[in-house]
Amino acid sequence: MTTLHQLTATTPGLPCRTTDPELWFSRSSSERTLAVALCRECPIQTACAQYALDHPELRGVWGGTTAADRRQFRTGEPCRLDEQGRLRRLCGSERAYRAHFKYRETPGPDCVDGDCVAAHEEHVTAERRARLDREHEAGGSTVGFWLHRRLGEPLCGGCREAFRVRQEISRRARARRGLQGARGASAAPESAEGVNGAPAGVQAFPLAS
Ligand code: SF4
Ligand SMILES: [Zn+2]
Ligand SMILES: [Zn+2]
Repeated sequence: MTTLHQLTATTPGLPCRTTDPELWFSRSSSERTLAVALCRECPIQTACAQYALDHPELRGVWGGTTAADRRQFRTGEPCRLDEQGRLRRLCGSERAYRAHFKYRETPGPDCVDGDCVAAHEEHVTAERRARLDREHEAGGSTVGFWLHRRLGEPLCGGCREAFRVRQEISRRARARRGLQGARGASAAPESAEGVNGAPAGVQAFPLAS
């Protein structure tokens, strides 16, 4: 197998050999950015980036990746270089799904080596399921009612009852408002006496509790 050492020895015109190599180890972020851009024109960028990933002790820019870029993949999470030479997670996870937006891409059409949309749906379902479990610990709720609906499953007794009670409360509130509106209309002043103040009967009408 060809090693990076062999590649660097046999490939002419490597940017880090033809430009000031200090750029690759600079403390200046603008100089590191320049080194990254130069790496992306290098014919052995992929091998160089992989070498740096395999050697976490390395500092500086390697294969168009900074030490900070590579730190994200220290746990051995698989990664790839995208078309622009950026170190990326493989498609097929929630984090890769979110990363598409960071790069102004659309999950699905812009997926490369996995299905981010399916991973995202799985993630959302798991989150809904976890929230539903918490609602059930409290005996069920209207939130649980809608979560059952979103999950496309039958309602449990607790959530069904919580929703029924909420609907009943809303129905009574609407009825009270309607009643108050009707009484308010009937109390509209029709005479000079009424203009000066609401009739005693209306003033005494208790506010609904
Ligand atoms: S990818 Fe960058 S660091 Fe690696 S050999 Fe090429 S120019 Fe040098
Ligand atoms: Zn994807
Ligand atoms: Zn429920």
